[in-house]
Amino acid sequence: MRVGVLALQGAFIEHELYYKNLGHEVFEIRQLADLSLFSLTNHYPPTTNNSLLILPGGESTVQVKLLKDLGLYEPLKAMIAAGLPTIGTCAGLILLANHFQLLPVTVKRNAYGRQLGSFTYVGTFDGKANVPMTFIRAPAIESISKGVEVLSEFEGKATAVRYKNITAFCWHPELNS
Ligand code: GLN
Repeated sequence: MRVGVLALQGAFIEHELYYKNLGHEVFEIRQLADLSLFSLTNHYPPTTNNSLLILPGGESTVQVKLLKDLGLYEPLKAMIAAGLPTIGTCAGLILLANHFQLLPVTVKRNAYGRQLGSFTYVGTFDGKANVPMTFIRAPAIESISKGVEVLSEFEGKATAVRYKNITAFCWHPELNS
């Protein structure tokens, strides 16, 4: 796959290493021209072949500002809406749900409290047991709409979801093997 990792701010290096180690072709998205590194079809909005977009964790307010300043906000949103397979972690989940409004879940930022700001929980992900899940100042998914599949839960709340071409995590899958 061609894996484009949004590399404006936050934990993008970890995703890059993860996918490189799996043998995929990884590139960073830092400016508008980088979007052409996906193998795109030549109609608008472009759709992609064999590609994956990663929206990493970090600080969503900063990421949104930079996306807008760089003119990346609308083009990226259009590509995801057109079906580009996308993974969002943490701040990436906040972007997909609260800003782009392409993921129909309600998300509360920094929901796991200051002292519990970072912790690792071992649970079941997509039917697979014993998956370590690292939460860092994580958002909570407060409610989900019809058609959203829950992939993992913590204390009765969804912590990873799948909807159409989008998979989104409250936790950081790239930090554990
Ligand atoms: N607290 C961050 C935010 O609100 C998200 C934290 C993270 O991405 N690890 O954007």
